[in-house]
This record gives sequence, C-alpha cells and structure tokens, in this order.
Amino acid sequence: MRVIVVGAGLSGLMAARQLVASGHQVTVFDKGRGVGGRLATRRIDAATLDHGAQFFTVRTNEFAAHVDRWVAAGVAHEWCKGFANEDGHPRYVGSRGMSGIAKHLAEGLDVRLEKLVFSLECSDYDVTVVTDDGIKHTCDAVLLTAPLPQSFSLLFGAGIEMPAELRTIDYDRTLGLLAVLDSPHHNVPSPGGLQFPDDVFSFIGDNSAKGISQAPALTFHANPEWSLQHFEDDIETIHSLLLDAARTWFGQAKVVESQPKKWRFATPQKSWPHPYWAAPGGLVVLAGDVFAGPKMEGAALSGLSAATYLVTAFS
Ligand SMILES: Cc1cc2nc3c(=O)[nH]c(=O)nc-3n(C[C@H](O)[C@H](O)[C@H](O)COP(=O)(O)OP(=O)(O)OC[C@H]3O[C@@H](n4cnc5c(N)ncnc54)[C@H](O)[C@@H]3O)c2cc1C
Repeated sequence: MRVIVVGAGLSGLMAARQLVASGHQVTVFDKGRGVGGRLATRRIDAATLDHGAQFFTVRTNEFAAHVDRWVAAGVAHEWCKGFANEDGHPRYVGSRGMSGIAKHLAEGLDVRLEKLVFSLECSDYDVTVVTDDGIKHTCDAVLLTAPLPQSFSLLFGAGIEMPAELRTIDYDRTLGLLAVLDSPHHNVPSPGGLQFPDDVFSFIGDNSAKGISQAPALTFHANPEWSLQHFEDDIETIHSLLLDAARTWFGQAKVVESQPKKWRFATPQKSWPHPYWAAPGGLVVLAGDVFAGPKMEGAALSGLSAATYLVTAFS
C-alpha cells in the first residue's frame, strides 16, 4: 500500500515508522523546514532552547516501550520526577532538544520538507495529494496529522465532512519567550521547571537544567488566557510584554538575547474519544494529539493507532 502522511510531527512520524515496518511504502510531507512540528528546538549561539513541548510523561506500557528505546538510543533522558514537589513520575526530555526525538524517528523515512499539502482529490479507490509546487502524488490512503483546523480545510476541499463535534474543537494559543542569559544566577530553582508560577506563565523551563543547553537559557510559556488576550498584538509589543513579565525570574542574570514565539494551535481544548478518525470510505484518516490526549504521549499513540487501522484495513 502507498500511504502519504501529512505532517512530520510526532504522530505522523510514529505512524510512518509503523507503516514502513509493516511493509508499506510511505512518503511524509511537511510544510516546515525541519521535522518535529510542536517538538521544536531553537539554537541561539551556545544556547539550545525547546520552544514547543517542554517535557513528557509516560502513562501507558505502549508508549513506555518506545520511550525506553529513545533513552537507549541516547535521544531522550529523564529530567526529574516533578517540579515543586516530586511525585515519583519521571519527566523526560529530548537529549538534543525535543526536535532531536523527531529527527531520530525520521531517520530512514522518505520525509519531504517545505512541501505544503495544498489539496486532496479523492476517488473510490485512491487519493491524490497536491503539494504547493503543483505536483500530484497518488496513493492508496492518506493520513492527516496537522492540527484539526488545518486538516479541515483539506477535507473541505475534497468534499469530506468531519463530525461537527470534531470540527469545532478549538486549540489554545501559546505565546512564548526564549531568553539567553549571561549567567545561571536566575530565579528558577532546581530542578529547573515551574508550572503556573504566576498569573502570566504556565511554564518556565531552564534548558541548562534539562541538560540540553551549554549556555544559560530559559523558555517561558504564557498561559492560555494571557496568550489569547495578547495574540493579535504586534510582535514587538508581545516581545516587550513577555520580557517585562519574565523580569522577576531573571534574578541577577542579564538577558543576552531574546526572541518571542507564537503558537496558534498549541493545545487542543478537548479530546476526541477515539484515537483516530477515518473518513467514510476509509482512505483518508486523521490522527494527532486531539485524538488520544493533548500531549506527546497522545500524539504518539494516535499515530500508532491510525497506522494499525490502515494496516488492518488494507490487509
Ligand atoms: C507551546 C507548547 C508547549 C507544549 N508543552 C508540552 C509538554 O510540556 N508536554 C507534552 O507532552 N506536550 C506538550 N505540548 C503538546 C505537544 O507538543 C503536542 O501534543 C505534540 O507535539 C503534537 O504532535 P502532532 O504530531 O499531533 O502535531 P504537530 O506537532 O503539530 O505536527 C503536525 C505537523 O503537520 C504539519 N502540517 C500542517 N499542515 C500541513 C500541510 N498542509 N502540509 C504539510 N504539512 C503540514 C506541521 O508543519 C507539523 O509539523 C506542547 C505544545 C506546545 C505548542
């Protein structure tokens, strides 16, 4: 079976690997310049900063088996077992940043970057995916893993209707700040993560404490309410408001360099009760973190479930 996966985020890459392991021919298209989607890592001189997902937890044996392999391969490690209080549950991070996990998963796959999937054309027995360079790619099935509003426009163009309860799930926005510091004397205590520390931020992460950055560097994520309130402000205003709000956490350290970051589709506000959705006819399937929980584990399990569905449907 020839499958096209739209999206080289965690769900798309997990699905692609499982489909290839089952003997199928898979091409992954992503509009981005790198793989990972919301597993995003930026380098600023000697600093390495995660600016999407900050850490992940493991609740299922299925995901644990994959994480154990990532740890053994040196692409992930345990950061800590809790932030303000230890609760015994490991928090993991990508050892070369979160995008390093995606790069590891993409090894050996046919991943084509900077290819925006522009439209779908469906017949009863195949699907044609049109990329923004105008090239048509015909396959037996397509797996869409973009955030729902982005997949919706592709489905709409192909005349496929999603259930209204699925179509109307919205995503929280996140405004972020990346700050490289001149010294480690900031106010984020060990182990280097703070959840909901004040009325602006939902998370502050110390990238040195995570073991990914040589230079002192903090990532700040504003909470959904603050992010919604300021999302349409111009980027210079967002940057300076975030710097003002973060100042108390810088302590004695000085900011050497800082950048703002906007995530329009950061976190789904609701979860769909099934780990994927197959359109009538079964040739177009949707997966992603909206289907199995709004976190990395949910994205991974959704991709795996969708791949299993496709393998079974086409066997
Ligand atoms: C700010 C932030 C903080 C987070 N913190 C955490 C955390 O601490 N712990 C945790 O577990 N999770 C966290 N998450 C959530 C986690 O990152 C996601 O659940 C997970 O990465 C989603 O993976 P995905 O594959 O479903 O989607 P994505 O990573 O969004 O992948 C979808 C991909 O599709 C591509 N795409 C979209 N449209 C098209 C198109 N038309 N053509 C081609 N490609 C397309 C995109 O470029 C993208 O790469 C966070 C997310 C954000 C944004």
